[in-house]
Amino acid sequence: MPGEHARLSASSSARWLACPPSVKLTEGMPEKESEWAAEGTEAHRVAEVKLRNYTNGTEDRVVCEAEIDRYTNDYCGYVVEQFNAAKKADHKAKLFIEERLDYSEWAREGQGTGDAVIIADNTCHIIDLKYGRNISVSAISNPQLRLYALGAISTYSLIYDFDKVKVHIYQPRIGNISTEELTVSELTEWGDTVVKPAADQAYKGEGEFNPGETQCRWCLAKESCRARARKNLKTFVENEGSDKMLTHEELAMLLPRLKEIKSWCEDIEGYALSQMLNGETIEGYKVVESNARRKVIDEPGLCTELVEKGYTMEQISQLKPITQLEKLVGKKDFTILSAGYIDKPKGSPAIAPLNDKRKPYEDITADEAFKDIEANS
Ligand code: SF4
Repeated sequence: MPGEHARLSASSSARWLACPPSVKLTEGMPEKESEWAAEGTEAHRVAEVKLRNYTNGTEDRVVCEAEIDRYTNDYCGYVVEQFNAAKKADHKAKLFIEERLDYSEWAREGQGTGDAVIIADNTCHIIDLKYGRNISVSAISNPQLRLYALGAISTYSLIYDFDKVKVHIYQPRIGNISTEELTVSELTEWGDTVVKPAADQAYKGEGEFNPGETQCRWCLAKESCRARARKNLKTFVENEGSDKMLTHEELAMLLPRLKEIKSWCEDIEGYALSQMLNGETIEGYKVVESNARRKVIDEPGLCTELVEKGYTMEQISQLKPITQLEKLVGKKDFTILSAGYIDKPKGSPAIAPLNDKRKPYEDITADEAFKDIEANS
């Protein structure tokens, strides 16, 4: 559920369960609001209104983008389908929308929000809408959903009779539905033996740093964390053999680490860039403008100019890419001829060594950047 910011939030539990001291380390670091998070928040808002309309028999209008409308309809359809099945088995079935689920018995101040909770026929169902489309999220051993399940046990078990909890992930944009069913005693045992000790350490800022792909991916300290840097740097050195060539055994050891090492390298570069954009100096480096692609903004106008200069339509359409047109006409003439028909948007800032021939980012005007591209292409 987007928008959870508690210290021991369910949405960040994969991180703090695996790496308890990350909680203290990231305290006070600004959250980065991604486009994905904003979309997810909007989809949850729309889904909530639709499900409340369903349960209250109201018709509150919900204005949203067509894509969100379609996918939240799919999600609401799934919730209603599950609720109808529950009602068939137990006419007293209940459906709760956006319920606070308090799992503080296992993790201090721990609370989350269940998108949809159904209680019926000895089973409590927790349905979680996931709006992302890049990663297929599994409900199996999913700590976020298990924490919601613990919250449901705390919140409802005194009022309702159930001894099983089934958690569902519904990810409409990639057609992913994943579920896990556990008994209440299996869940509370997980809460007592896994959650409680890690949560206590996390709350106090104790425990060992434990870098890993899953826990580091969303950590606010991922770019600057020394434990992660240390692990990635010594990945190979610690296991180095004496052969002059890498052995197949060494490749087998390295390959599973490459994804994490690549994303760590990108994080380091992004961190250095953000420091420099904030006015810090990193010796030997500067911020430059990355090369942006030129775009034809007036194709008929450019074609007319070229035809007037004697080029045939056949030549022009066969050579559509700008670099090829440039080769056909000649760099100098093309620059003059295409002025006003081609746009070169300002490139984004990038980090480069001091000897890079591009000027520092803040010194570049759009015209100069255009010239740079002309000269380089
Ligand atoms: S980057 Fe990884 S190792 Fe470092 S604090 Fe975060 S989760 Fe722990």
